[in-house]
Order: sequence, then structure tokens, then C-alpha cells
Amino acid sequence: MAVVTDFRFMLEPASTVKRVPVPMPSRPSLSAALRALLPERCVFCGARAQPGEVCTDCWRDLPGRGRERCRVCAIPVASAQVCGHCLRDPPSYSHSVTAADYRFPLDAAIARLKYGPDLSLLAPLARLLTGAVRDRPAPDLLVPMPLSPAALRARGFNQAVELARLVAREIRAPLSLATAVRRRDTAPQASLPFDRRAGNVRGAFACETPVAGLRVTLIDDVMTTGATVEELARTLRSAGAADVGVWVLARTPRPD
Ligand SMILES: [Zn+2]
Ligand SMILES: [Zn+2]
Repeated sequence: MAVVTDFRFMLEPASTVKRVPVPMPSRPSLSAALRALLPERCVFCGARAQPGEVCTDCWRDLPGRGRERCRVCAIPVASAQVCGHCLRDPPSYSHSVTAADYRFPLDAAIARLKYGPDLSLLAPLARLLTGAVRDRPAPDLLVPMPLSPAALRARGFNQAVELARLVAREIRAPLSLATAVRRRDTAPQASLPFDRRAGNVRGAFACETPVAGLRVTLIDDVMTTGATVEELARTLRSAGAADVGVWVLARTPRPD
């Protein structure tokens, strides 16, 4: 296994990430001062809850949390370990983890985070993702899904980057914001029919830092058809990554 020795390409070097003190386990990413400014409301449903937190009912009822999934692509399956689609046509990533299904209230929360934008949702959503991957081995490198330059200009921040920062801090894994870049603007995947999404992102990414021999994990908010993560995973494997995994907050079932 190759070891990353040149961390200059990282905006947050691994050594910095590792020196961050262990935060409070229940609310790792929200300072007491910030929490004091937030209303005592569940960030998902508005019911009474600790400031900046998700209420116990929302946690319990989160759709698809803990359900049986294909270990490669994370679509819900009845019992098989790997779904038929992944058996027939294995993707470039070896495994996927999702915290829950892309359904209410998680879809609404992610939309509010991105388009509100409501950054008070970042910490609870990152905690949801961290909880889903807690038993997984930490990768050599966490790589957030890059936004297109146009989307980044319009939104002002990349939710995948912000989620990845919090997850990296929590699991103490190196984070690279410089590895994956968009080479060109693509039409928003959500604006296209499913059968055109793979073509839309083909050749869209470049790998800009050494990844040879590394186990890389991609972080994104939502995985729909998987076309975007497949293209980035393919790019990273072509650059020599030993393994690529995918961690997302929410997964929509794949249309057949
Ligand atoms: Zn709630
Ligand atoms: Zn699958």
C-alpha cells in the first residue's frame, strides 16, 4: 500500500486533521455559542428538540436507515449481498454507503441546506453520515464530489465539501479538496432523464493529485443513478487508486 507523503496538495493536511481534539460525541460540530443562537427546534420537522439537533422521532423514522442494501451501489435489496445490476455490470467503485433513502424529511433537509442555504443543517447531516460509516475502515483519502464552476458560483459553497470536512474531522481521515476537479460545466444531472446522465458527465472529471495505491472514498450528498460517482470513480481508478468507495447522505432507488 502506497503512503501519501506529499500533503502539500491538501488544503487541510492530514497532520492538521489528526491534531483536532476529539469533539463532544453528541454534538461534535456545533459550538456552544452557535447552539445558543439556534431555536430549540428539530432541524427536520420543527418539533421541540435540542437546538441544532434532529428530534428522536425523526431519527427513528428516517426512511431506509439501517435497511438491507446492495453493498456495491446501496440500492435497497431484499436479501442479496450484491444487486443484479452490479453483478452484470460492476461499477468502478467497490462499495457504497448511504445514511438513508432520499425521501422526506431527508430530501427536504438536503434541499434546504443547498438552496436555502441553511448551514445549520450541516452538523446534523454530517453526524448522520458519520454514524452510517462508523464501522467502516477509514480510507486513505476522503474526496468530496466537486461542483461545476458555474454551480459553485451560483451557490457559493459546495455542500459535499462542507460535509466532507466534518466527516474527515470526526473519523480522522485525510481530506483532499484538490484531487477531483471538474474539467467542464455539465448540465445539472437532475435536469436530465436517467438514460442521459452517464453521457452528460463522461470525461467531466480530472484527478489532479497522486492517488496511486490509495483507498479513496468519495463523499456526496445524494446518489441518484450513480452516474456521477461512477465517472469520478472511473477517473480515480484510471489514475491508479487501489479502491474507490462512495459515502452519501441519501440514496434514491435506481430505475431499471
Ligand atoms: Zn423532528
Ligand atoms: Zn448494486
